[in-house]
Amino acid sequence: MSARLLDGRRSAEAIRAEVAARVAARAARGSRPPGLAAILAGDDAASRVYVASKERAAREAGFVGRTVKLPATVTQAQLHDEIERLNLDPEIDGVIVQLPLPVRLDEDAAIDALDPAKDADGVHPENVGRLWLDLPGPAPATPSGIIELLRREGIDRAGRRAVVVGRSRLVGKPLAALLLREQCTVTVCHSRTRDLVAACREAEILVVAAGRPALVGPEHVAEGAVVIDVGIHRCDDAALVERLYPGDEKRRRALGEKGYTLIGDVDFTRVAERASALTPVPGGVGPLTVAMLLVNALESADRRSP
Ligand code: NAD
Repeated sequence: MSARLLDGRRSAEAIRAEVAARVAARAARGSRPPGLAAILAGDDAASRVYVASKERAAREAGFVGRTVKLPATVTQAQLHDEIERLNLDPEIDGVIVQLPLPVRLDEDAAIDALDPAKDADGVHPENVGRLWLDLPGPAPATPSGIIELLRREGIDRAGRRAVVVGRSRLVGKPLAALLLREQCTVTVCHSRTRDLVAACREAEILVVAAGRPALVGPEHVAEGAVVIDVGIHRCDDAALVERLYPGDEKRRRALGEKGYTLIGDVDFTRVAERASALTPVPGGVGPLTVAMLLVNALESADRRSP
C-alpha cells in the first residue's frame, strides 16, 4: 500500500476538543451551554445508533444533548408539533430531524418546519440557498467534515480538479458547493453519468458518495489522486471482504463475531496502490460528521446568545 491514510478519528477528536474548549469559554463568561436535539421517529436500527452517538458527543463536549423519540406511528402534525417545540425552546440551538423518516411521512415538509437558525445539518431550503450564495450559515455536516479533513491533512484545494460521485442533497450537492468555495474545479457524477471511469480519472481529489459497495476501483483513480470514501455498508459477504482486504484478520474476526464488517464505496486495498491519500472505512469521514454537527450547533448558540 502506498497511499497515506487520512485519519478521520484524529481530526474529529481535535475538532471536538476545540468545541469543548469554546463551550468552556462560554461558561466562563456566564453564557449557557449550547443545546443540540435530535428527533428520532420510528425504530430504524442504524438511525438509533447515529442519534445515540450524536447525543453522547454533544454531552461530552458540554452541550445540553437531547433525543426526542417518536413512535413509527407518529403523524405529520405530531412531528411538526415536536419540531416547533424545539424551535421555541430557548435551551436548544441545533435541531436534527434524523433521516430517513418512516415512509408515510413527508421529509420535505418536516425540514421546512425547522427554524433555519437552528438547522444543525444545513438542510433547510433557506440554508441550502445560503450555501450556494456563499452566505454564512450551516452547511451539511458530512461535506463540511470532508473539507475540514482535507484542510487539517494539509491537502491543497485551490485550482485542483475535484470529482464528486453522487448528487444527494446531504452529501454530493452540498459538497460540490463547498469544493467550489475552496476554489476547486468541480465535476459531479451520478448514476446516469456515461463514462464514470473516464470522469473519475480526471480527479486530483475524488470523493465517492454513491452508496454502492466497492464501486470505485483502481481503474477509476489517477496515479497520486486523493480519494475520500463516504460510503458506509454493513458487509456480510466473506468473499467480498477477502477481495477488498486480503488477509485482514481483524475484519475476518468481525465477520465471525458480529456477522458483518463496515466497508465503503471504494475497493480499498487496490485503490491504495494508486492513490496518494485515502480515507479508511470505518474511521474516515464518519467521525467528522458528528464533530461538524457540534460545530454547527455551537455557532448557532454563539449567534443566538453569545
Ligand atoms: P444517496 O443514495 O442519497 O445518493 C447516492 C448518489 O450516488 C445518487 O446521486 C446517485 O445518482 C449516485 N450513484 C448511485 N449509483 C451510482 C453509480 N453506479 N455510478 C455513479 N453514481 C451513482 O446516498 P447518500 O445519502 O449521498 O450516501 C452515500 C453513501 O454515503 C451511503 O453509503 C451512505 O451510507 C454514506 N453516508 C455516510 C455518511 C458519513 O457520515 N460517513 C453520511 C452520509 C452518507
